[in-house]
Amino acid sequence: YKAKETRSGHHVYRNDDDSHGDARLRTAEELRLALRTDQLVVHFQPKVDLDTGIVHDVEALVRWNHPSRGLLYPDSFLRLVEEAGLMGRLTQVVLGKALDQAATWQAAGRPLTVAVNMSASSLVEQDLPERIGAMIVARGLSPSVLMLEITEDFLMIDSVRARAILTRLRAAGIRLAVDDFGTGYSSLAYLRDLPLDELKLDRSFVMTMADDPRAAALVESTIALAHSLNLRMVAEGVEDGIAYSMLVGYGYGCDQAQGYHMSRPVPAAALDAWLAARLPQPVRAVTR
Ligand code: C2E
Ligand code: MG
Ligand code: MG
Ligand code: MG
Repeated sequence: YKAKETRSGHHVYRNDDDSHGDARLRTAEELRLALRTDQLVVHFQPKVDLDTGIVHDVEALVRWNHPSRGLLYPDSFLRLVEEAGLMGRLTQVVLGKALDQAATWQAAGRPLTVAVNMSASSLVEQDLPERIGAMIVARGLSPSVLMLEITEDFLMIDSVRARAILTRLRAAGIRLAVDDFGTGYSSLAYLRDLPLDELKLDRSFVMTMADDPRAAALVESTIALAHSLNLRMVAEGVEDGIAYSMLVGYGYGCDQAQGYHMSRPVPAAALDAWLAARLPQPVRAVTR
């Protein structure tokens, strides 16, 4: 590595240091190895239906079970995956594992739908709907077992192209959600024009609504907006009983809640144990 000396005599490492690039290459190599040797794992987090307290749906979230660094979370490696041109392969792996698990749950008599996060780079792959369709058929599943979570940035890049892609996926029977809703700069027009099934309200709103009346008002009006467009509303980042109770409340009418208050993302076996041990949950008293 190259180091330069500061006036105080300390060594600092320059940002354009060659060693930085080397380290990155090494990690990209590690990533390829991880894909070859099946080091990626998928955890599942339940989405609780607030009318019934029942879990019908889970979100699949990737982790990297690194041989020396332990369990790594997506925020620490997804950018590298993208830079290394490996996102297509990661998506394929996660879809495969999520659908395998959906088939296992179905065979066990407890059907759960799985939601998989899709990067914009994976969504634009030409044969995506056909490939996903084949993966679903190979496992004897119905396409409605799968939901894809897309982000507003994908919708913003090229709305005409985005609509064409989403329309093909939807025509194949796959359901679609907009993730982290409220954090992008998208207009209301795309909500009207795109074939969507669900909005997932970003956790920044949900986590602040108990203390900030303006956040609460935004949550409430966003839920009303979703319902006026016949979209299911899911609140992310439900971390405590206060947030849960607010969402169950009649004025909110949110459809589902996801967050640490119910369960963190966990391996499938741990989710099974959690579901089996669960007591009846507080649910909405008033039917809409
Ligand atoms: P996301 O899709 O919005 O997923 C929700 C994230 O919020 C997860 O972080 C989850 O663990 C976390 N979370 C859930 N409940 C709570 C809560 O109550 N409080 C707080 N503070 N956080 C909560 P995770 O698993 O680290 O994933 C981060 C992001 O990485 C995801 O955000 C998603 O954008 C991306 N990601 C995860 N798996 C995949 C994947 O397979 N493919 C792609 N392309 N992206 C993925
Ligand atoms: Mg998501
Ligand atoms: Mg999200
Ligand atoms: Mg409902």
